[in-house]
Amino acid sequence: MAERNDPTPSAGRASDDCILIVDDDLDVRGAMHSFVERAGFQTLSVGSAEEAIALLKEREVDIVITDIILNGLNGLELTDRIKSDHDVDVIVMTGYSGEYSYEEAVNKGASDFVFKPVRFEELLLRIRRVLRERQLTRERSLMLGKLQNLAITDGLTKLYNSRHFYKQLDMEVGRSNRYDHPLALLMMDIDHFKRYNDTYGHVEGDKVLTRIARVIKSCLRTMDSAYRYGGEEFTALLPETRADEAKTVAERLRTAVKVETFSPQPDEEVGVTISLGVTEYLLNESKSEFVQRADRALYQSKDAGRDRVSVLYPETSS
Ligand code: GH3
Ligand code: MG
Ligand code: MG
Repeated sequence: MAERNDPTPSAGRASDDCILIVDDDLDVRGAMHSFVERAGFQTLSVGSAEEAIALLKEREVDIVITDIILNGLNGLELTDRIKSDHDVDVIVMTGYSGEYSYEEAVNKGASDFVFKPVRFEELLLRIRRVLRERQLTRERSLMLGKLQNLAITDGLTKLYNSRHFYKQLDMEVGRSNRYDHPLALLMMDIDHFKRYNDTYGHVEGDKVLTRIARVIKSCLRTMDSAYRYGGEEFTALLPETRADEAKTVAERLRTAVKVETFSPQPDEEVGVTISLGVTEYLLNESKSEFVQRADRALYQSKDAGRDRVSVLYPETSS
């Protein structure tokens, strides 16, 4: 069982960071536990690797400090298991016997290495350094995630951008070919949008783009994805969807946009409409044939008077 006392923060400095000590020597374990706890960390300690593994399934731990020589699984094997299953740092402890090397520990993924008998002040420095690096790594991956999102998001509408469209198209077409699953594509374009901009100004036009993007998103399933393809053109990829089902979605979209009202100037309420083109993917055709067919369907809608949905099936399109 894990031994745990109430953390007693030293100098009023309680930390949320949790340290788990693994040592089969009761005295060493007890002394380390008290020291780490007094330093202000949430502290747990167990006598074997097996207990540590069980505990890690239930508790969030930041650092495991483990002796290398243990009954049962040893500290290096424990490190290996921890690094493959958890986001936890490991500091290993060893005697000066030379049986295990720093390289071995680092190769298993250990973040640091201390010699026994452990000098507590040195251990504390190492714990703090590992925690600081953990924090930096977390901030870095958060930042990276944000940057990656920015790179695929359209700044105005917050839909995915066209670069991401082509990437997802590539992926979905690949999947469709591999598993022979249906895939539908919708192309949408705002009707007479130049007139809207000319009449009410670009800022009001931008509001329309943003709202329409929201409407599009709200009409799609979670597995579908919507993109701002160009200025006032949008696309949507609908996996596992045939053209006929996609047509129903497109009709729903057309209606949902049509019922929206905009107030580009006081006491004036106006609506906008969109034209849509729908098609489904034909096994093994090129991506450009697929996209161009959706585009042709969209232009049929424009030619036929706008505010409508046209479908082009692969077989009948050429
Ligand atoms: P159609 O029904 O044939 O599509 O007519 P349209 O006027 O919508 O088409 P056209 O391609 O002639 O004009 C598109 C207009 O979309 C031009 C531009 O004023 C507007 N537009 C494109 N991108 C943006 C944008 O980011 N913000 C705003 N406000 N308007 C944009
Ligand atoms: Mg337009
Ligand atoms: Mg256009």
